Amino acid sequence: MMMVTQLGSLNAWEQTSVKPFWKAFLGGAAPSADTIGRVCALVSSDEIRRIIAEVITRARRNKIAILKLAGFQILVLDGHESHASKRRCCDGCLERTLSSAHGEVKEYYHRHVLAILLLPGGCLLLDAEPQKKGEDEVAATMRLLTRVMLNHGRSFDVVIADALYTRAGFFNFLTKKGKYALAVLKNEERHLLRDADGLCNLVTPVVARKNKVTRTIWDIEGLESWEGVKGPVRVLRSEEQRTVKRQLSKKEEEEKITWWWATTIPSSILPAPEAVDLGHGRWDIENRGFNELGTFWHADHVYRHEENAMLIFTLLTLLAYNMFHLFLGRNVKAVLRMSASKLHFARELMSGLFDESGAYFHWVPP
Ligand SMILES: [Zn+2]
Repeated sequence: MMMVTQLGSLNAWEQTSVKPFWKAFLGGAAPSADTIGRVCALVSSDEIRRIIAEVITRARRNKIAILKLAGFQILVLDGHESHASKRRCCDGCLERTLSSAHGEVKEYYHRHVLAILLLPGGCLLLDAEPQKKGEDEVAATMRLLTRVMLNHGRSFDVVIADALYTRAGFFNFLTKKGKYALAVLKNEERHLLRDADGLCNLVTPVVARKNKVTRTIWDIEGLESWEGVKGPVRVLRSEEQRTVKRQLSKKEEEEKITWWWATTIPSSILPAPEAVDLGHGRWDIENRGFNELGTFWHADHVYRHEENAMLIFTLLTLLAYNMFHLFLGRNVKAVLRMSASKLHFARELMSGLFDESGAYFHWVPP
């Protein structure tokens, strides 16, 4: 309830614990904030993941619309950081060294990777996996993907990820599981990039226009110079040109950005302009989904600084986020939904917690 009503902290929640809602909801007195934090450190993450999976399975059974880009159902992966501190750390904290005016300082932080399924106009958060001490983000993602394949394998065809995931192991894993991969290509894969760059001179690019941006796209298929990758890879290069008006000078200037992607989707089923659209779709979700998660869902808040508790609170945030959006999408009439912001509906739910009459309470235990 703390998550669904976006209260944002155990302290804020505890202040509501004397309200009649809790007695009706729990059938007894509410526990203290401290107890909730302590219990979350002991709860099994498998259990919360099972509930998340059940909610999504039900939503799918009820024919929830899943976004299709170029005919594909899309899963996006993204690493998300929380609790960066130079002083406080726990047994599970990751460490990095930063340079400052006073020399090098150690910073402690946590990171988890989210698996996000795209819906028309939104998303469902399928699962989260923490990055553990001594491993990189991709290692955590491989655990996440293995589980997501088991629980939600039929919900997506393509996995889109950032440059960090342009790794042979990641591409091979998805190919083996019958899924396509698409990731931003950066300098780390020099051989592949050099070969693709050289071949661009031999290929006639296609020109596509989208949202006032002119894209000149080179599409190179069948590349085998990526060490460790089983099977050929396709590389796309998109030179994107648009006119921007500078705020200060009010002058119009031409801006040119070059993007590279590596993918296993063959051009016979996904032409180059659509493949580039797919690559860009990722940044769109990053801007929309994560802004909302951080700003309204307090995804960065550390409810209790303990490894398992942090994972449990993250998973509960995912569950609450999904249930809130499914409720809005399926139980609130479109006219009403369009008339107010999501925050308004969250506040309406929250007002139930503060209600002294108990009139808001309709929940019937199963
Ligand atoms: Zn920590």
